[in-house]
Amino acid sequence: SISKNDNVSQPPGQHVVFFPFMSKGHTIPLLQLARLLLHRRRHISVTFLTTPANRPFIAQFLSGTASSIVELPFPEDVAGIPAGVESTDTLPSMSLFFSFINSTELMKPDFERALKNLDPPASFLVSDGFLWWTLESASKLGLPRLVSYGSSNYFMAVRTALTLSGALHRHEPEREIITVPSFPWIKFNRNEFKYPVLQNPQAKELMTKCDDATNRSFGIIGNSFYELESVFIDQWNREIGPKIWPVGPLCLQAQPESCSATVVHQWLDEKLEKDESSSVLYVAFGSQVEISSEQHREIAKGLEESNVNFLWVIRKPKDETKDCLPDGFENRVKNRGKVLTDWVDQTKILNHRSVQGFLSHCGWNSVLESICAGVPILAWPMRAEQSLNAKLVVEEVKMGLRVETCDGTSKGFVRSQGLRKMVEELMEGEMGKEVRKKVKEVADMAKKAVEEGGSSWQALDSLIDEACKFGA
Ligand code: UDP
Repeated sequence: SISKNDNVSQPPGQHVVFFPFMSKGHTIPLLQLARLLLHRRRHISVTFLTTPANRPFIAQFLSGTASSIVELPFPEDVAGIPAGVESTDTLPSMSLFFSFINSTELMKPDFERALKNLDPPASFLVSDGFLWWTLESASKLGLPRLVSYGSSNYFMAVRTALTLSGALHRHEPEREIITVPSFPWIKFNRNEFKYPVLQNPQAKELMTKCDDATNRSFGIIGNSFYELESVFIDQWNREIGPKIWPVGPLCLQAQPESCSATVVHQWLDEKLEKDESSSVLYVAFGSQVEISSEQHREIAKGLEESNVNFLWVIRKPKDETKDCLPDGFENRVKNRGKVLTDWVDQTKILNHRSVQGFLSHCGWNSVLESICAGVPILAWPMRAEQSLNAKLVVEEVKMGLRVETCDGTSKGFVRSQGLRKMVEELMEGEMGKEVRKKVKEVADMAKKAVEEGGSSWQALDSLIDEACKFGA
C-alpha cells in the first residue's frame, strides 16, 4: 500500500527512494538524510520502502514532511525468524542476525514491483549495504544505487585493508599484534578485533555478496565529515572506491520532537537547579545489544560505587529489568541516578547542558551524536564493528577513554571496580578533562562541516547532482 505522509503533496522533480535495513541504527541516519534533502532542495521528493512493522517509526520521524511510504510485506515462514519479527532490534537472539539479513532477499519481487510503479519515477536509490540484492533491481531500471552502511569510514578502510591483505586469516599465533596495511600506525591485538565475519562462514559469504554489490554501485553515503576522517576517506576514494561522499554528521539535521524527552529533561533540569555545576553520565548501549543480567548487575554496582550522577537506559522489557539490578538499587541511588527502559530521544539527552559523559557501546550513530553534543565517551564496544569505532574514538580522535575488561578483549566481562575507576576518570579526572576539551573542538568542526559552504554541505550538493545526472 502506498500512502502520503501527512497528505502533503509532492512537488515534481528528483525523486529519491530509500530502502533502509530493518534496524533502528541503520534506519535513523537515512531518515535524517531524507529530512536534510527535503530541507535543502525544493524539487526533491522522497519515498521510503519498508515493512508494516517498521512503518510507524519511519512515519513518525518523517511527520510534517512531503514524503511517501510504500509498504512491502516481510517474508513469512523463514526458518528461525519468529512470525512478526521484522527488525533485528526484536530478534530473540543475535545469532539469527545473518539469517535475518539473508531472508530479505525474498522481498525482491515486491521490491521491484514497487520501484517500477513509483510516480514520479525514481531518480536514484539509497539502499542499505546489507540489502545487496537491490543492486540488480536498481540496474534493471537503470537507477544509480547509493549505499549506506551507517558505519565509520575508519572501519570501512581498516576492514578492507585487512581483508585485502589477508592479515586476519593467517594463523600466526606468534604475531599477536596486527599492523594494518596502508595505515601502519594502527596496531591491534588479534583478540581485540572480534569481527563476526572471521568466525562465521554464513557471515563471510553474506559480506562477500554485500561488498561485491557495493563495489558495483554508484557510490557510498558517508555519515561522517571529511575533517574527522580525511585520511581514511582519501585513501578509500583514491585506492578502493566506489566514491564515498561524507555528508554528515546527519544527526545535526533537525529531528522531530519526541515526548519521551520531556520526562528525562525534567529530571536533568532538576539536577541543575539543585546544583549549577552538576554533571551527569549518560549510559546507553544502542538499540540491539545483548547484555547478561550478571553484567547489568555489575554495571549497577560500578555506578553505585562511583559517586556520579547517571541516566541509564536499559533495553529490556520492563519486567526483566528487575533481574538486572541488585535489590534496592533504584531506591539507594534515587537522588543521583535514574534507570529508563523506554525508547528515549538520545540526541536530546546528550545535548542537555548537564550531560558531561557518555558510557557507550560505540555504535557509529552514538559516536556521532556524542561528538555533535561535545560529550566525551567512555568506550565499551560489544559487537560488530564497535571495537574499531572505539579505537577511532580513543586513539585517533582522542575524545574518549576506554573501559577495562577482565581479559583485555572487547568481549570480556567488566567488573564494577574497573568501571568505577574509569567512570570517575572520565567525569572528574585529568584524562577526562583532556578528552572533554578535544571533543568540543571536534564538535565545532562538525558544525562547520554542515553549514552552508562546509565540506558536508558541498559533498551533498555534488552527490545529488552527480547521481541525478547519471540516472537521467
Ligand atoms: N536510540 C535512541 N533511543 C534509544 C536507543 C537508541 O534514540 O533509547 C538511537 C541512538 O540515538 C542512535 C541509534 O538509536 O541514533 C542507535 O544507533 P547506534 O549506531 O548508536 O547503535 P546500534 O543500535 O546500531 O547498535
